[in-house]
Formats: sequence, C-alpha cells, structure tokens
Amino acid sequence: MTEKRGRHPHGWYILSIILILAAVLVIFTLSRWELRVTLRGEAVTTAEYGEIWQDPGAEAHFGGAHVPKLFPAPPVSSRGTVNTLALGDYQVQYSASFLWFSAGATRTVRVVDTTPPEITLYASPGSYTLPGGVYEEEGYLAWDSLDGDLTDRVERREENGKVIYRVTDAAGNTARAERQIVYDDPIPPILTLLGGDHITLPYGEAYTEPGYTAMDNMDGDLTAFVTVAGALYPNVAGDYELHYTVEDSWHNRSEVIRTVTVTPKPAGVVYLTFDDGPSKYTQDLLDILDKYGVKVTFFVVNYGYNDVIGKEAAAGHAVGVHSATHDYHEIYASEEAYFDDLQKMNDIIYKQTGKYADIIRFPGGSSNTISKFNPGIMTRLTQAVVDRGYQYFDWNVSSEDAGGTTDPDEVYQNVIDGISRHETSVVLMHDSKSHTVEAIERILIWCLDNGYELRTLNKDCYAAHHGVSN
Ligand SMILES: [Zn+2]
Repeated sequence: MTEKRGRHPHGWYILSIILILAAVLVIFTLSRWELRVTLRGEAVTTAEYGEIWQDPGAEAHFGGAHVPKLFPAPPVSSRGTVNTLALGDYQVQYSASFLWFSAGATRTVRVVDTTPPEITLYASPGSYTLPGGVYEEEGYLAWDSLDGDLTDRVERREENGKVIYRVTDAAGNTARAERQIVYDDPIPPILTLLGGDHITLPYGEAYTEPGYTAMDNMDGDLTAFVTVAGALYPNVAGDYELHYTVEDSWHNRSEVIRTVTVTPKPAGVVYLTFDDGPSKYTQDLLDILDKYGVKVTFFVVNYGYNDVIGKEAAAGHAVGVHSATHDYHEIYASEEAYFDDLQKMNDIIYKQTGKYADIIRFPGGSSNTISKFNPGIMTRLTQAVVDRGYQYFDWNVSSEDAGGTTDPDEVYQNVIDGISRHETSVVLMHDSKSHTVEAIERILIWCLDNGYELRTLNKDCYAAHHGVSN
C-alpha cells in the first residue's frame, strides 16, 4: 500500500517538470529574446569646432515579446573619441552583452566649423573726417577661431557715410561689420588783420580800415563775410577795440581784436619844412630825424646832392619842388620859364623817388617882392600852379636861418617862439645851413616834450599862404 501510493506521486512530479520545461521552451522560442543597444540622440550628429562635445550615450535592452522586463538593463560601453580641434567625421561605438547575447550601435559625429570670424574695429578718440573727405582707416582686426588672423583678407568699402568690412573664413562663414564715419570740421577760419592788431591813430584823423582776410579749410575765402564791430571816436583820445568775427559753414567762429589808440589831442601840429637842399648837411639831418622818428618836408633844389632826395623819400619824408636853379631872374622872367624850371626839378624828383611831387614852394615864397621886375608874375603863378594840379606852401613860422641869424640858439628860439603862437605851424628852415642842422635836435625834443605832433605836408594840408604882393 505504501509502495503503490508512493509510485504514483513520483510519476506526476516528473511529468509536471517535463511539462513546465516544455512550456518555458515554447515561451522562450515564441518570444524571440534579444539584446538591443539604442542610441540617445541622433545617429549622425555635428559638433562645433573647438567646443566640448557631450556624448548623449546609449542604452541597452534585453527582453522578449511576452516577458519584456524580466531582466535589468545590461551596461553599455563606448569606444572611439571625438577631437573637436580637428575637422572630420568620428565614429563612436556602443556595445553591450548578456549571457550569450551581444549587441552594438554606432554614432557618427561630424566636427564642423560654422562660426564666422570676428571683426574688431579700432577707433581713435576724437578722430573725425572732414566733410567730403576720404575716411582715414583707424584700423581693424579679423580673427577666426580656426583660421587665425584673417585681417589681410578683409574687404572694405566706403559708401553713404559708412565703411563696410567683410571677411570669409576657409569654411565659408562670412562676417560683416560696419563703421559710421564721423564727419566734422572743427577748424575755424583763420582771420588775419592787415596792418597788425594795434594801430595808433593821430588825434582827429579819420580811421581807415587797413583790411583783413579770412580763409577757411573747407569754405575757402570768407573775407566777404567778416563783420567788424566797435565804435571809434577820432576826436576822443583812448584805446578802442574793433572786433572782427567770421563763422564757417560748420559754425566754427573766429574772432580777433584790433586795438586802435587815438593819441591825446596834441598841443598843436607842426610841419617842419626845409628848403634849398639837399646839401652836404642833409644826411646828418636825416640821421637826427630818424633818431626821433620824426617826418618832415623837403622842398628841394638841384645843387648836386640829388641822390639824397631818394633817401629822404625812402625814409618817409615828403618831397616837394622848390626850384632847379633858384635863380629869381630866370624863373620869374615868365610863366613859361617858371614851369620849365619846375618841370626840370620834378623830373629829378621822379628819377630819385619814382613819383612826381604835387607840392611846391616858390623861391622867396608867394609873397616875394624880388620878382617885381616882372609885374604881376606871382599873382599869375599862384593861380597857374593850382590850375596845373599843384599846391604851393608858404610858412607862418620862420627860423630866420637864411640871413636873420647863423646862431643855432637863435634858430631854436625863433622856431619854438613861432610854434608856441600857432595851433598849426608851417616852419621855414633850410637844410643848406649848418646852424639849422645843429639846432634841430633841440627843436625836436622841445616839440615832442610839449605835446606837438610833427607831420609831413601833403596837397590837402593847411598851406599857410602869404598875401601875394606882386
Ligand atoms: Zn629858397
């Protein structure tokens, strides 16, 4: 009973195991068990040159159709490197194994350069381009991460007030940069005063503008646009400021100031005049006059020192006609004779000075009586010279140096006494006399110390005419 009961259970047990094994075999076979490696991300991907490439990796799966999650995922190992510092294609192999299964996958990583070069523009502070001018390059640098310095390959062009820079690297990536050109004209016109920035104007004399120029780097000649402002009263002594201003088309303004000093009202005006020269004393006289900066008037004769006439004019003195011969009987014989003599002397003056004189002094003065051998000749001549465009000058102060005295002290005294009595003095002296030249320095000092103004005669001056007595 015990044996019989024991044999039956044993048979069922074996049969059950056989059936279970058969079922597992069927399930395994029908489930197509497999090991798979799956990439994370794309199978073909790119990496940027020079940048770190992160491998997204891969994962493995083991399972079958009917029992997918029976076993944990086996580990995946990878092989192959990606060098992002060298362009090209790289393979990364992923593999896994489990039991007698093994699987793999491959990823292609393409190292590429899609980064354009960088253009750096340099700028100098305060730099500018004149309107209409060509921009002067301040400098630039083109750098590519792969190709390095591409500065030499930069193409630049200037248009519509901009500079455009372009450069392309070996991989065909193009960079572009532009610079706005700063147009400016900070340079003001140059205002130049003719005659200097300080002028001394003798009291009472009208101011004549000596002129000015204004030149601009962009606009050229702006002289016509200069404005002059400032009041000036020639009859009120003092310093006056004249303001000259001009502006260019970029509003750069220039201003210069001229100071005009109107001298104090003089005690009087003195015209020192010298007849009957040049002589051997005249050069000494010129030296003394030059020492004091005083200008006088010479009524000249043809006595053998004609070259000195040129020196007189060159030094700024006035030159007038006295006579070629100074021979009363010859020159006052007729009007024709007088004018022949005058013309002869004026030709000499012209030769020495380059211009004819229009001021004259009659030998003996217009009031002379020595010409009475020809009645009325002075009446006729005083009219005739004016008709011919001359002005004749007599005097209201005489030094008496041509007969009255040969003493320099007396010459000095006569002159200063005469000057003291007149507001405007025309003083008769002779540079043919040594005592006159000896007296002249003291006369000049006295005039200057006492506030007299010493001037040269011209055609429009007070002429101190005498009464004609023939
Ligand atoms: Zn004379």
